[in-house]
Amino acid sequence: MKITDISVRVFTHTSREVKDSDGHTHPGEPHKVRHALLTITCDDGSQGHCFAAPDLVRPNLIDRFVKVVLLGQDPFARERLWQGLAHWQRGSGAMLTDRTLSIVDLALWDLAGRKLGLPVYKLIGSYRDKVPAYGSTMCGDEMEGGLATPEDYARYAEWLVKRGYKAIKLHTWMKPVSWAPDPRMDVKACAAVREAVGPDMRLMLDAYHGYSRSDALWLGREIQKLGYYWYEEPMNEFSMSSYAWLATNLDIPVIGPETADGKHHTRAEWIKAGACDISRTGVHDVGGITPGLKCIHLAESFGMDSEIHGGGAGNMVLCAVQKNGLWYERGLLHPFIDYDEVPGYLNTRTDAMDAEGFVHMPQHPGLGDDINFEYVNANLVK
Ligand code: MG
Repeated sequence: MKITDISVRVFTHTSREVKDSDGHTHPGEPHKVRHALLTITCDDGSQGHCFAAPDLVRPNLIDRFVKVVLLGQDPFARERLWQGLAHWQRGSGAMLTDRTLSIVDLALWDLAGRKLGLPVYKLIGSYRDKVPAYGSTMCGDEMEGGLATPEDYARYAEWLVKRGYKAIKLHTWMKPVSWAPDPRMDVKACAAVREAVGPDMRLMLDAYHGYSRSDALWLGREIQKLGYYWYEEPMNEFSMSSYAWLATNLDIPVIGPETADGKHHTRAEWIKAGACDISRTGVHDVGGITPGLKCIHLAESFGMDSEIHGGGAGNMVLCAVQKNGLWYERGLLHPFIDYDEVPGYLNTRTDAMDAEGFVHMPQHPGLGDDINFEYVNANLVK
């Protein structure tokens, strides 16, 4: 069995989300956006698919790197193919990113699952069939009735509890909100949510990512008093020493790294340096499920949890095959967005959540997305 083709379909769908000038997602008017579907095809007709932002699978990357490594190869040689792509990253002049590696790796896993008739999480070896989700809010904004005030966060947290969530993570205010960032406002939002949901709810904070050591320490101590469960990325993650210093000075678990690149190598250094209490990985942060498994097993070997960053089928798979991590990140959520709505390019919502707050692993063969190929083909960008 050999890989004979790698193709990309770019299509449009309707989105209610817009990006601000710093790249954060917020609610907006419905509008058309582009999305892409990468497909790997083999000589026996087998296929594997993965959705991607079009830029991550642009023709230059597919022709110069992905086809060079994959064409003519055994699609089950995932480790070798992944190593081949990772090797190209240095020579690519920073063009070939972990995000693109991840899309290719996920499509290879999807292909294996479809070919063998198994959901990917069972192919790897499942630990559980359903995962509790935490509601992960969008960043704060300046919209009336949105996430503009601590009271807005508190009101929305009450709704999330009613929806079934057993944990909530706040993303608070960042630029370009006119007065942000402000650690004192972060604490007010955290306190208002704690007051609204009571002492038993698991709460986490993912605040502005560029605080100084002194602001980060002050904020950490305040949410520690509020009984928060983890403290995420309050400083630039490329300063590992700052995180080692922060983790030493706080009792609340510091989680990371999320955005610092370097895949499993970076996670190993952070654990060794004492820069985190909970490790963090996500398929798109580290280059796919293949390296993601290394990250969660690395943390497990040190007796440490590894919580999964971000949603989607690939991250659900990591959640379902690990013992050392509890939560699935569901979002981003906002009072003006119906997250449960099914996007046009899917037949069902991949991370559908029940009234108890559990996301159930899809049982059809492959990665997990129930792809509406008819929709994709009917909305192709010419
Ligand atoms: Mg984060």
